[in-house]
Amino acid sequence: MIVSLSDLPNIFDFAFNPYALLSLIAAAACLVVIFLVFSEGINVSVNRWYSYSIITLFIWAVTEAFSRLSVTPYAAIFWETLGSIGWIFVAPLFFAFAISYIGKEKLLSKFSWQSILFGPAFTFLFLSWATGLVVNQNPTAYVKYATDWMGPLDTPLFGVVFAYIDILLIASLFLILRFYLKTKDLQVRRQSFLIVCALLIPLIGGSITNGILPVLGINVIRLAVPLTTIMSVIIAYAILRYRLFAISPGMIVSNIVETMNEILIVFNKDHYIEFVNDAVERVLGYKKAELTGQPIKKLVSSDWNNFQEKVLQPIDQGKQVSGVDINLESANGQKIPVSFSSSALRNPRGEIYGEVGIATDIRKIRELITDTIAERNKLTTVMQSIVDGVFALSSKGDVILINPAALNMLGLNEKDILGKNLDEVLTMLDADKRLKSANLLPNKNLDKDTILIQKRGLEVSTKFGKRVFVNLTSSGIREGVEVGLGAIITISDVSKEKELEEMKLDFVSMAAHELRTPLTAIRGYLSVLQEETAKSLDKEQKSFLDKAFISSSQLAALVENLLSVAKIERGAMKLEVEPTDWPAVLNEIVENFLSIASEKRVNLSIGPLPDLPKVLVDKFRITEVLANLIANATNYTKPGGNVVINAEVINKEVVTHIKDTGQGIPEGALTHMFTKFFRVSGVLEQGSKGTGLGLYISKAIIDMHQGRIWVESKMGVGSTFSFSVPIAEEQEKPDLDKKSEKETVIAPALVTPNKKAVRYFKKKPG
Ligand code: ADP
Repeated sequence: MIVSLSDLPNIFDFAFNPYALLSLIAAAACLVVIFLVFSEGINVSVNRWYSYSIITLFIWAVTEAFSRLSVTPYAAIFWETLGSIGWIFVAPLFFAFAISYIGKEKLLSKFSWQSILFGPAFTFLFLSWATGLVVNQNPTAYVKYATDWMGPLDTPLFGVVFAYIDILLIASLFLILRFYLKTKDLQVRRQSFLIVCALLIPLIGGSITNGILPVLGINVIRLAVPLTTIMSVIIAYAILRYRLFAISPGMIVSNIVETMNEILIVFNKDHYIEFVNDAVERVLGYKKAELTGQPIKKLVSSDWNNFQEKVLQPIDQGKQVSGVDINLESANGQKIPVSFSSSALRNPRGEIYGEVGIATDIRKIRELITDTIAERNKLTTVMQSIVDGVFALSSKGDVILINPAALNMLGLNEKDILGKNLDEVLTMLDADKRLKSANLLPNKNLDKDTILIQKRGLEVSTKFGKRVFVNLTSSGIREGVEVGLGAIITISDVSKEKELEEMKLDFVSMAAHELRTPLTAIRGYLSVLQEETAKSLDKEQKSFLDKAFISSSQLAALVENLLSVAKIERGAMKLEVEPTDWPAVLNEIVENFLSIASEKRVNLSIGPLPDLPKVLVDKFRITEVLANLIANATNYTKPGGNVVINAEVINKEVVTHIKDTGQGIPEGALTHMFTKFFRVSGVLEQGSKGTGLGLYISKAIIDMHQGRIWVESKMGVGSTFSFSVPIAEEQEKPDLDKKSEKETVIAPALVTPNKKAVRYFKKKPG
């Protein structure tokens, strides 16, 4: 019988049928799900079985729709029978999915298991299509309800097929549920939970509407198709939401291959290109099609011999090559340097059937290397040519680099120091303290380039006996740790300057010493003259004698101060400190100055003193400081002014203030007060004959006592000079009681200016 289009109205009733529409919607949903699963990659077993099961569901849904649209029972029976492929196969295929899902997909590749699973399905399908044992084939028994054509489900095998389907679905449910309970992975648990829930919907609902109720003779709308579709949609949601199905490793690999930056070339044994990835277009400018089928030589023509020798020959022999530098030729003839790695592709019997190579574009790296080399060369040239010595230390203090100037300065050869620990080769003395390489290195990671230490006049001696004086600067760079660089040290030789300085000091000392004796004699005779001829001289003659005496005294004071300075600068001075009664010291010095002060009509006094602990000082030296400060205060204070001395305890120090109501010191001069030879300009013109050395010497003495000295002053109001000295610690008392020996502090040398000389020196000419 030939069916023509005009027969269609006799077969299908096209009046709106919501029940048929429901089936069609289910079919459409199935298509969407199939599309989704396919797009995730069908060559993963779990995806494949799932999509097969949804394809059968789709067939079932379509045939169900056609059955519901059928005009005659014959047509309905035809679609029902045809559709049995769907409902018979949906369950075993879903069971296969469940097995794959729990990771047992290997079972499915065994023929025995396939037969057990699908054998009954094929048998039922055959019986359904060829006999009336499954689907009722008697049209007169069918009745058209609003929802469906329904025939009695009393065929001999319907119950068996129904049981087969439900058993498989229940088994799937069981497998996935067990997997859900076992697995710890939260993501996988969510997935499997969703599948279990989804599976329960058609299993319960579909069994009731399509099996149990019809068998009991109750006709309701058969919901297996829409419910199964709902299940598949939920599972499809799980696909998107929880990435239910694995993306095929094949897809991942091909994705990586196409997106990777390296060029991947597969070529056959005859060295013809079989595959190249997208990177050829990016790096070499070739279209993929321009290269496939071409000999590999096309890409490496300019470097062919090299390529043959270093790449092709080894891999033809089955060896692997990696990181061979060759030049590939781009589409426009440019040479592109690449690092080429390659290995042979073998079939399962171990025979080579092709080769695969990966080429990494190293233009950027080359550029970087060139830049780095240029930088290094620049640096080396600079290092070679500068007169300052430069060397670099590793973080352990090993010398990793040294320039000729440094070698020259230290009288070393490269091999004497390079690679050796700095402390093995050099001894660096800062005053008397040894400076080790660890003192030159940063003790933490640096967050910026930093100068770590700077030393002047460091004495450096090599293990070979050479001794030099250097100014040293150690700097660290931020990337130090990453590149294994501890510090960069620059040294400049100051031995010559040091020598000159020493010569200068020698000369000053010598000259001062030579002047001292005749000056003492001159002052002696003048003093005798003053006393013995006082009555016989007239006023003018007496004044000449006085002036001569004062000038010679000033000269003597200058000589003493110069000797002091020379000693200080030579750094060979001893302090003998002992616990000392401070108020006693203050009283003594003030008493000594009273006559000078009264001559100047300046009121000199000590303010009310608090209870003061003993201080740890060299009484002799500290008296010099006091004498100097009090002399200055009286000198630079106008008649009628006051000089008051106070003392207080601050922290562990006794701070003494010498406050005057004198002319004051201009602000700009304050910071220079304690420097050598500094005198406030203009003072000289006012008749004071200082040397500018007193405060410098005072500061040196206070420094030796680990104290501080400072000045506060206001022009026209007065000045206050303050200094601190340490309190003698408690534990020193027993020593005191025992009258133990004095403590000796060695420090930059200090001279003992004769107390009287200082006093005279400070005395202003009458
Ligand atoms: P000298 O007094 O011999 O010049 P000093 O080092 O003792 O050397 O003092 C340096 C300079 O500081 C003095 O020349 C003077 O100008 C200034 N000076 C020091 N003490 C005072 C003071 N109490 N009041 C004002 N000026 C002072």
